[in-house]
Amino acid sequence: QYQGLSGRSTNEVLQLYSVHGQQQTLQRKSVITQLHRAIQRLKRDLKSLHSFALELSKEFQHQCKTYLYQVLTVVQRIQLQNEAMQMFQLKAFDLEQSLQEVTERYEKEKHKRRALHNSLVELRGNIRVHCRIRPLLPFDTAARHTVAQDRQRNFSEKVAYAADDETVLVKCNRPGHASINKTFQFERVYNASESQDTVFADVAPLLTSLLDGYNVCIMAYGQTGSGKTYTMLGPQLEKNPAFSTENESELGIIPRATQEVFRLISEKPPGSYWVEVSVVEVYNNEIFDLLAKESCGRVYGVKRDVVTTREGKSDVPWLTYETVENASEFLHLVNKGLQLRARNPTLVHAHSSRSHLVVTLTITTIVPEDNTGISWEDELISQKLNKEVSCAVPQKIRENKSTFSSRASSPASSETTEKQRQIKTKLQLVDLAGSECVGMSGATGAALRETSFINRSLSALADVLGAIAEQRAHVPYRNSKLTHLLQDAVGGDAKLLVMLCISPEQKYLTESMQSLGFGTRARQVHRGQVKKKNLPVLSRAK
Ligand code: ADP
Ligand code: MG
Repeated sequence: QYQGLSGRSTNEVLQLYSVHGQQQTLQRKSVITQLHRAIQRLKRDLKSLHSFALELSKEFQHQCKTYLYQVLTVVQRIQLQNEAMQMFQLKAFDLEQSLQEVTERYEKEKHKRRALHNSLVELRGNIRVHCRIRPLLPFDTAARHTVAQDRQRNFSEKVAYAADDETVLVKCNRPGHASINKTFQFERVYNASESQDTVFADVAPLLTSLLDGYNVCIMAYGQTGSGKTYTMLGPQLEKNPAFSTENESELGIIPRATQEVFRLISEKPPGSYWVEVSVVEVYNNEIFDLLAKESCGRVYGVKRDVVTTREGKSDVPWLTYETVENASEFLHLVNKGLQLRARNPTLVHAHSSRSHLVVTLTITTIVPEDNTGISWEDELISQKLNKEVSCAVPQKIRENKSTFSSRASSPASSETTEKQRQIKTKLQLVDLAGSECVGMSGATGAALRETSFINRSLSALADVLGAIAEQRAHVPYRNSKLTHLLQDAVGGDAKLLVMLCISPEQKYLTESMQSLGFGTRARQVHRGQVKKKNLPVLSRAK
C-alpha cells in the first residue's frame, strides 16, 4: 500500500491515511464492543455461577441438616431399640428365672404328689409297679434268625417308649395290621438311658421300711432278654455268671439293696440286728436250696419243699440260712449259689432265666415283749436293746453260721427271754424266669418243658393276683411252687414292688404287651393296708 502511495499527492495520501485511520478506529471500536459484550456475558455468567454456588451450598447445608437429622433419628431409634433389647433381656432373664422357679415348684409338687400317691398305695396295700424299658442292644439284630419268619420284618424298630416318668407309650404301625397307640401308667417308668443308680434310688425307701418292720418283696417280671437279671443283679459276665463288684455303678438292685440294708443297720445300736441269707431257685416247679452244703461243706443244690405253717405263712423246712455281717460276705455267698445254679448238671437250662431266683434277706431284731412293734424304732428302746440285748444271740449265730428254717430249733428264737422277743422281717428279691409265650420261642423237648413250667408258674402268679383283686375267699397260692413260696409277699403283709422289664423292639411287641398287661392288673390289686393286718382284731379294739 505504501509503495502504491508513491506518485500520489499529499492530499491523496492524507485522505488515504485518514480513511485508513477511521477504518482502524472502527475496527478497534467493534473489538472493544465485542470485548465489552463478552465481559458483560462473563459477568452475568459469574453472577449466575455465584448464585448457583450459593444455592448449592445452601442446598448442601440443608441436605447436611436433613441427613444429620436422619442420622440422629436413627441413632435415637437404635438407642431406643437397645433399651428395648435390654428390657427384653431383663424380661427374658425374669422369665427364665420364673420358669426355673415354676419348674422347681413343679418338681416339688410332683414329688409331693408322688409321696401322696405312695401313701395312697400304702393305705390300699397296692402293689407298686415300676417299668423299665431297656435300650436297643446289638444282640437284638444278631438274634434275628431265632425269631419266627413273620416277626422278622422291622425287627429292630422301636415300639415301646417312656412318654414321661410315669407313662409307657406303645406305638406300632405295621402295614396290614391294626395300628397300636396305647399308653400304660405305672408308679414310675424308666427310659433306656436311666441308670442302675436312678432305679435303685426309687427302691431304697422300701429298705427303710424293711428296718421299720415291714416285709418287702421286689420282683422283676418280663420276657427273656428284657433286662430282669441286669436290673436285679447287674451285667452278667461270660466267665462268672454272677455279678462282679468291679464296676460299682453297674450293680443291680440285689447287691445295692444289701449294701443299703447294712448301711442302715450300721446306724442302729450294734448287735440289735442280724441278717441271714437264703438263695432259692424254682426250676420246673421244684424248689432248690442253692446254699445247702454237703457234710464235707461243699455246696450243692438240694430240692426242698414249701409248706404252709399253722399261722398260715409259707415256709421252706430245712432251707439253709447263712448269717452274713456285711455286703461283701453276702455277695460272696450269693455268687456261690448263682454259680451252682448255672453249673448244676441236673438243670440243663442254657440260660439262667429258665428258672425263678429268690434271694431272701431275713433281718432279725429283738424288741421288748410288751412292745407292739409300732414304736420299736424308738431311740430309748434301741439304747435299752443295746444294753440288755447285746445278748448272746448274734454271737451264737456267728459261731454256728448256718441255721435252718425250722425256726423252733433255731438258736436265735430259743434265746428269747420274758422281756424280749424277736421280730423278723424279710426282704425277698426275685428274678423271675422269662415270660415269653410258648411256641414263639420255637422250643422243643426239655426247653419246651421248662417253658411250659415257667408259663404255668407265671399264670399261677397272675391268677393269685386276680383272686386277691377280686377279694375271692380262696386264693390259689398252692397251684404253683412259685406262688406258694411267695405267698406272704404277694398276698400277705409285704410291700411289693414289681419291676416290669420291657424290650423296646417291634418283634417283642406281643411279649411287651403281655408284660404291660400283667403290670396293669398288678396295680389294680388292693390288698388293704399292710400294717393293719398285724393289729389286734377289731372287736377287741372296740
Ligand atoms: P433277662 O434276665 O430278662 O433275660 P438280661 O438282664 O440278661 O435279661 O439282659 C439281657 C442283655 O441285655 C444283657 O446282656 C444285659 O446286660 C443287657 N441289658 C439289659 N438291660 C440293660 C440296660 N438297661 N442297659 C444296658 N444293658 C442292658
Ligand atoms: Mg435273666
